[in-house]
Amino acid sequence: MPLGYTFAMIKPSACRKNHVGPILAMINQAGFRISAIRSTKLDKEEAEQFYEMHRGKEFYESLCDFMSSGPIIAILLEKENAIEDFRKLIGNTNPTMAEEGTIRKMFAESLQKNAVHGSDTPENAEREANFFFNQRERY
Ligand code: ATP
Ligand code: MG
Repeated sequence: MPLGYTFAMIKPSACRKNHVGPILAMINQAGFRISAIRSTKLDKEEAEQFYEMHRGKEFYESLCDFMSSGPIIAILLEKENAIEDFRKLIGNTNPTMAEEGTIRKMFAESLQKNAVHGSDTPENAEREANFFFNQRERY
């Protein structure tokens, strides 16, 4: 299988609780290579753009407030089968349903504050990576 990319984010709640190091270690241990990484902060409008596909859902406003509430870590990851494997590593969106040993099981505080984001399709991975990184920031 060819190498593929996925885009990941460590959400503000996990950054606030200093879970960045342990989460990055789990990502590396699972065989992902970090192609690009940056600490940054989304403003409300940027969060609304990033989560565009959820516009209109009942959790959208609250999600965008949360995602713009503090610094995040944006990460471009490379691995075979990256998108699917990363979503397995992070576990179910709802941490009460996340499997043992997954990042969300270990670090999520709630359905909203679920520690990490992972792209769900190649098209979204591309869009999300372009949102944060130019070509010179990817190696
Ligand atoms: P992400 O896109 O962040 O990787 P996901 O793909 O597992 O998560 P989505 O359905 O895309 O889940 O939802 C995006 C994010 O919105 C979730 O990670 C969570 O933070 C929040 N969210 C989703 N559903 C709810 C809900 N019912 N109530 C509150 N927040 C929610
Ligand atoms: Mg999603």
